[in-house]
Amino acid sequence: MTKAAHVLVVTPHPDDAEFGVAGTVAHWTSEGKVVIYVVCTNGDKGTSDPNMKPAELARIREQEQLAAAKLLGVKDVIFLRHPDQALEDTPEFRKELVRLIRMYKPETVVTADPYRRYIWWHRDHRITGRVTLDAVFPYARDWLSYPDLLEEGLKPHKVKEVLLWGAEEPNYRTDITVTFAIKVGALSCHTSQINDTHSTELEEWLRERHTILAQGEDYELAEAFYRIEIPW
Ligand SMILES: [Zn+2]
Repeated sequence: MTKAAHVLVVTPHPDDAEFGVAGTVAHWTSEGKVVIYVVCTNGDKGTSDPNMKPAELARIREQEQLAAAKLLGVKDVIFLRHPDQALEDTPEFRKELVRLIRMYKPETVVTADPYRRYIWWHRDHRITGRVTLDAVFPYARDWLSYPDLLEEGLKPHKVKEVLLWGAEEPNYRTDITVTFAIKVGALSCHTSQINDTHSTELEEWLRERHTILAQGEDYELAEAFYRIEIPW
């Protein structure tokens, strides 16, 4: 009934985890850590091609996500297949995440920062981050939250830390200098999301971005997060 993972990555759309945490994921898996991806939406609105059909796009994006995860050494990818741009903070969605946290018992959960302000943050990112934090605490932790999950053998689980990508004021950085090339490769798997211009400039753009995130550190390239340690 329960499986063990060190890290659960909860991503709103296929490709967000690659932007946010792929360099760090590649580090973790190279150290032998078990990383599981949970993809909340099917990404079926993510196109500028007016001829693309949503069902076809969803199918393509699952394949792209699986290819990226394989490159990063992610052990398993779970697709929740909620419709893109339609994620809501519902009891059902929260329970899906609680179930997975109790099933995999991760020490670390990684997701999108829900508290980034203004327009440059997708609504699905805000909802995913918020519901994931709720699922970690208190719902996955408390004995009486879900009697039916207990009956299934899914006991409460205490996550030790949460990392939020996209934070406006990060307090935690990871060195991705060595794994940067794998990150670029993983992002390149998301062909439907990278237009021709972007494709040629992707590596350059990423290098600039991750150099800025590493400012003040003694290494070249970083991913940055808001890190929450959970003491209880
Ligand atoms: Zn997204």
